[in-house]
This record gives sequence, structure tokens and C-alpha cells, in this order.
Amino acid sequence: MNDTPAPTRSRPLIPLALVVLAACAAGLRGCGEPAPRTPPAATRAARVYEFPVFNTFAVLKLWVPPEVADPAAQAVSARLRDLHNRINLFDPESEISRLNQTAADAPFPCSDELWALLGECRRAWRETEGAFDVSVGPLMRLWGIHRKRETLPTDGEIAAALDLVGLDRIVFDDERHTVHFPRPGMYLDFGGIAKGYALQLVLDLLRERDVSPVLVDLGGNIGGLGTPPGRDSFRIGIRNPFATGETLGTVQLRDRSIATSGNYERQIVIQGRTIQHIVDPRTGQPVGTFAGVTVLTPRPVDSDIYSTAVFVRGEPLARKLAEQTPGTGIVLVRQGEGQPVIQTFGQIEIEP
Ligand code: ADP
Ligand code: MG
Repeated sequence: MNDTPAPTRSRPLIPLALVVLAACAAGLRGCGEPAPRTPPAATRAARVYEFPVFNTFAVLKLWVPPEVADPAAQAVSARLRDLHNRINLFDPESEISRLNQTAADAPFPCSDELWALLGECRRAWRETEGAFDVSVGPLMRLWGIHRKRETLPTDGEIAAALDLVGLDRIVFDDERHTVHFPRPGMYLDFGGIAKGYALQLVLDLLRERDVSPVLVDLGGNIGGLGTPPGRDSFRIGIRNPFATGETLGTVQLRDRSIATSGNYERQIVIQGRTIQHIVDPRTGQPVGTFAGVTVLTPRPVDSDIYSTAVFVRGEPLARKLAEQTPGTGIVLVRQGEGQPVIQTFGQIEIEP
């Protein structure tokens, strides 16, 4: 996301369809299992809202009546637009653009909203041992991932860009909520966290309004509240990176969110070399060991962070994150001979 100058369009919300779910008798739930938390107003059919946000689509499914669903969807849309306006790299007036332009000259005072997001980025950097680093901006620019270039960068150019990367080099003042870059040319890129963070804000907002059950999909970052009527989990397909119309199987989603980092959507070719859109902040090189990394976590922002980080570091980090954060499940997919090779870590079960 954030990779094309896509201003937020203030298109009206469109309830696309009233989706009638296959009716599952509530009595089919296992004996003794607690009933899903369902507000009295829950409906059996979901109202579906779809609208553009960032560089993708938000899809909300709300199993509540229109008088609850419509204002909730409006509030979600406004919340997402506000976040987008703050962190859109392609709007020179956005808060992140102003930070990137001026934080080398003087400490940049952040809004509470931006400071909260930066807090997640700093925690992500620590938890992933630097594999997830929002200061990769100069590398993204160098490799032409946001704006295509015709020739591969030289080793000298990569070394120069790496000199401008490293969250540990940036000065964060926890009292004043300011950010100071030690060198001009550094810049932050929230492309690996924005959708997961946005999903978290959306689910928090809906939870505060007691709107449930809901399922929210922000460009492949998916999370829900409650469970769909008559079922004890949402079922989400894991896309097959080698045949994007197919799935590798499904996972059950309940009280967790899911995100995938894949090489199938956003790769470019420069002088015959395929460039992936995730870079290793240690080497400055785009990484392409995996075809896809899918992560399930209790916190929506973590699945987005971890999928990008594990794409960089692979199995050792997958193992560590799965052990360190309860409820984490990770799927690595890579090219095998004929068949994709799938490895899983932590709490995850892929069903056919
Ligand atoms: P997508 O946005 O396609 O769902 P990801 O969540 O994996 O995929 O995010 C990829 C984006 O993350 C890149 O476009 C870039 O903006 C950013 N990014 C690339 N490498 C890193 C990294 N090592 N750490 C943090 N962000 C990164
Ligand atoms: Mg990500």
C-alpha cells in the first residue's frame, strides 16, 4: 500500500449485498461450548460494505440490523480516512510526509495518533530483531519499488542507502513525542504495518460500539469480532501463491487476525532480475526466499508485522515469534518440486 498516489476518494458507502449465509443451526455447536457473544440485535444475514482505502479495498460484513450497521460503517470509513490522511506518503501535506521532510532539520512533534503508530513500529523492531524496520524507506526508493527504475542499483548505492536505514539510529523523545533523524535522507514507510494497524483501529471501534459479529478485510488483513451466526469460527482461505485463484486450505479464525505477505502481487523486473517488495534492512537486498508467509495472531497489527518480518528472516524468526507470542500461528510457503512446500509454526491448523 501507499505505493501509488491514490488520494482517498470520498465515495459514498455502498451496501453491496445482503449476503445470506448458509443457515447453520445454532444447535450444531459442541455441547458445553459457550455461545458466541451475540448482541440481541444480531441478524442471520450480513450487511456488506465495501469502499476504497489506502491503495486497496475495505470490506466490512456486519451481522447487525441496518440502523446499527450503517452508522458503524460510516464511522469506520471516517476512521480509515483519517489514518490514511496522516500516513499517505504520496500526499506532501500528510503528517508522515511533513515528518519525513523536516525531521532531519529539527525534532518533529507528532500527533497522538502518529505517536501511537510509531510505538507499534518501535515494538515491532525489537520483537523481530530489526527484521521489521519502518525506516527502510531509502531502500524502497532505491530499488524502485514505489517508482520503477530501469537499472539495478550499484553496491555503492546500496551501501549509501543502508547508511540511512535503522530504527535504532532515529531519536524518539518519549516525553515530547518528537522524532529526530540524525541524517537527511532518512524516511519512514508504513507499508508493512498500515493495513494491520488500521484493522486494529477498526476492530477496536466496532468493539466499543458493541457491534458484533463482524468480519473486516483490509486488503487481505482480516479479523473479526464474535463468530458468524450458527458457527464457532470464521473460515478463511490461504491463497496458493503459485495459483492465485486457488487456496492451499482454510484456517479457522476466532479472536485472531490473519495477514499474508506474498511475492505474487507486487514484484517488478529490472534488467531481468525480479525484485520483491520486501527488503532486508541488514543487507539492503530485496528478499525472495518465500512465495508467501501467512500469520495468525491475537492482535491484528502483529499479523501484518510478523508476516513481513518472517518473509525477511524465515524459519528462525517464525519459531521465535510463535514461541514468544501466545496464539501465534505461522505458515511459510516456498517453491518445491512440482508442489509448494508448506511449513507451519505455533498455533495453526490448515484444513482442506
Ligand atoms: P502487502 O502490503 O503487499 O500486504 P506487506 O505487509 O508484507 O505486504 O508489506 C510490504 C511493504 O512493507 C513494502 O511495500 C514496504 O512498504 C514495507 N517494507 C518492506 N520491507 C520492510 C521491512 N523489512 N520492514 C518493514 N517494512 C518493510
Ligand atoms: Mg505486513
